[in-house]
Amino acid sequence: MAKEVLYSSTRGALGQIKASEAILRGLAPDGGLYVPDHIPQLEKSLREISGLDYKDTAYEVMKLLLTDYTEEELKYCITHAYDSKFDTEEIVPLAEADGAFYLELYHGATIAFKDMALSILPYLMTTAAKKNNVKNEIVILTATSGDTGKAALAGFADVPGTRIIVFYPKHGVSPIQEQQMVTQKGDNTCVIGIEGNFDDAQTGVKKIFTDKELAKELDEKGFQFSSANSINIGRLVPQIVYYVYSYTRLLKEGRIADGEAINVVVPTGNFGNILAAYYAKNMGVPIAKLICASNSNKVLFDFFKTGEYDRNRDFVLTSSPSMDILISSNLERLIYHIAGDNAAMDADFMGKLSKDGKYEITQEMRDKLTDFYGGFATEEETAETIKRVFEGTGYLIDTHTSVASAVYNKYREETGDKAVTVIASTASPFKFPRSVMNALGKGDESKDDFELADELSKVSGVEIPAAVTSIRDAEIRHKTVVDKSEMQNAVMDFLS
Ligand SMILES: *Cc1c(COP(=O)(O)O)cnc(C)c1O
Repeated sequence: MAKEVLYSSTRGALGQIKASEAILRGLAPDGGLYVPDHIPQLEKSLREISGLDYKDTAYEVMKLLLTDYTEEELKYCITHAYDSKFDTEEIVPLAEADGAFYLELYHGATIAFKDMALSILPYLMTTAAKKNNVKNEIVILTATSGDTGKAALAGFADVPGTRIIVFYPKHGVSPIQEQQMVTQKGDNTCVIGIEGNFDDAQTGVKKIFTDKELAKELDEKGFQFSSANSINIGRLVPQIVYYVYSYTRLLKEGRIADGEAINVVVPTGNFGNILAAYYAKNMGVPIAKLICASNSNKVLFDFFKTGEYDRNRDFVLTSSPSMDILISSNLERLIYHIAGDNAAMDADFMGKLSKDGKYEITQEMRDKLTDFYGGFATEEETAETIKRVFEGTGYLIDTHTSVASAVYNKYREETGDKAVTVIASTASPFKFPRSVMNALGKGDESKDDFELADELSKVSGVEIPAAVTSIRDAEIRHKTVVDKSEMQNAVMDFLS
């Protein structure tokens, strides 16, 4: 039996808890994120794992980190998550194009990579509630700029014992993203547009979360809050699986030899996806470089270059909106680890971040970042890359994936590194048809996003995903729009 993995906060010594408790809580009470006390090693060889399908690979990986779940519990969660909600039996196909392997993480219900974790989180959460004798109904509060909201709604819709409330900026999401959310079915779902931006939504949710009076009042009514965003380790652990899986596919198909190191490129926003790749590497997957790709909000690029994290800069709206972020929450977990699992140091840095908007790590910590390479792509480079890859190979990528692709090309030119490389492909191009059509030089201002999706399908020969066609004429079920100051009242209305 492997040693049990326990979780503690990145910011303090509040004791250790089991995986299921960390999933139930989401965020630690001191505002820190839960981290494992050690990173377990894979028990089977990668060659052995290459004989497994996605679900069995998921079990091999997740059992090592979620050690208080029984085999039966974990297999139940995995089986119900990775089923026909995905439009391919492979779950995450690997497509070779333009000198790299694109790991398509967008074949789930909402056609973005958030489905990889959010289709299993509801099962992990309800199982955790049972294990810990939670009698309350769990209310998932989410603020979204587009992708997380729909993926969380799809995951939690009609899950007994849960309710989900999503706040999105009424004027700050793409038309397809909004249509995806407001047509959501399920009696336990609630979608609310706010007059305000994403930061307002996020701030409002955090305020509701930390309101102790409110928590007490709700507890008396039989409710407790939890989180579906990437600060929850229940989102991080399932994301490690596809890095293990992609390596074993390359091995199985003879594209790499046993032990051969690959590179991984990840289009990054909140640093969750690339952190999962870092954990995969530390669990024994031979990954040489972790290439962190940013858009014009290149705070992470600057961090890897200088050792200083500085969010004091203009927030840029780009064609890859899910990466428009200046505070990458999950970087805190990496900071904690490279500080030698030092919570006091981490808390000091995070204090500086909230006070001055910046902090600088030590040289000793910087020396531990040599596995990472930071790059960024401008809007022009992102559009050019979509066009170049499509015209050169016939393979169509979305704007977020294109940022990664553009950064990888710069990396290859700069270093001459020819290692086999996996690029995380995080969304279907049909989620952002306007930007993709513009990139191909076929934009049309007179058409709406659904019409542009039709055009994109004709141009590319790729069928429009069901996630888009099914919402086109669907009934609008959520019409509430409130001022940002009214968020708490909206929550109370839904729960009464
Ligand atoms: C959320 C998201 C990202 C960024 O992922 P992080 O884990 O936040 O770094 C990239 N691309 C798409 C399409 C996303 O939805």
